[in-house]
Amino acid sequence: MRAVGLSLAVLLAAAITQLAVFLVSDSVALLTDVIHNGGDALTAIPLGIAFLLRSQRGERWAGYCVVAVVLASALLALVQVIERFIHPQTPTHLWALLVAGIVGVVGNEIAAVIRWRAGRKLSSPALIADGHHARADGYVSAGIIVSTVFIAVGVPVADPIIGLLISALILHTTWESWVTIRRG
Ligand SMILES: [Zn+2]
Repeated sequence: MRAVGLSLAVLLAAAITQLAVFLVSDSVALLTDVIHNGGDALTAIPLGIAFLLRSQRGERWAGYCVVAVVLASALLALVQVIERFIHPQTPTHLWALLVAGIVGVVGNEIAAVIRWRAGRKLSSPALIADGHHARADGYVSAGIIVSTVFIAVGVPVADPIIGLLISALILHTTWESWVTIRRG
């Protein structure tokens, strides 16, 4: 539980930093990454509720709420991305954008290591799987770095393209969570 809380705190700090950079740079790729990381942090809440209340019903309903929130925010992000394709706009504050990408990569990597260590100590396959997920999310955040480089060399369309890829990824994982909750 402590490992889960600690890794969440790291991810939350990374998400807040990224959100602040999004507000100044206006990068839609970063917006989708913030929503993805925030959504992942939220999906840990139902597990926490189930653990604390020992209630399966509570876990399921909390799960539905989280899926609804993540789905709504993913669709909202998708609208922004499509908007950006129609009305191209180059993100500003590229150095801050680069830092936001690095913060995402490092934050997810730290979360991955915390979960792997705890998972091995407790021999919990779920925690180890969460570790793998966090590392994969680090690669997603690396997309922000890639997008920043493309913007810097004069290809700003990379921003909505990366945003579109991340939006698709969020919608895919949201669908998977929904299927898991229904089955559970
Ligand atoms: Zn994720």
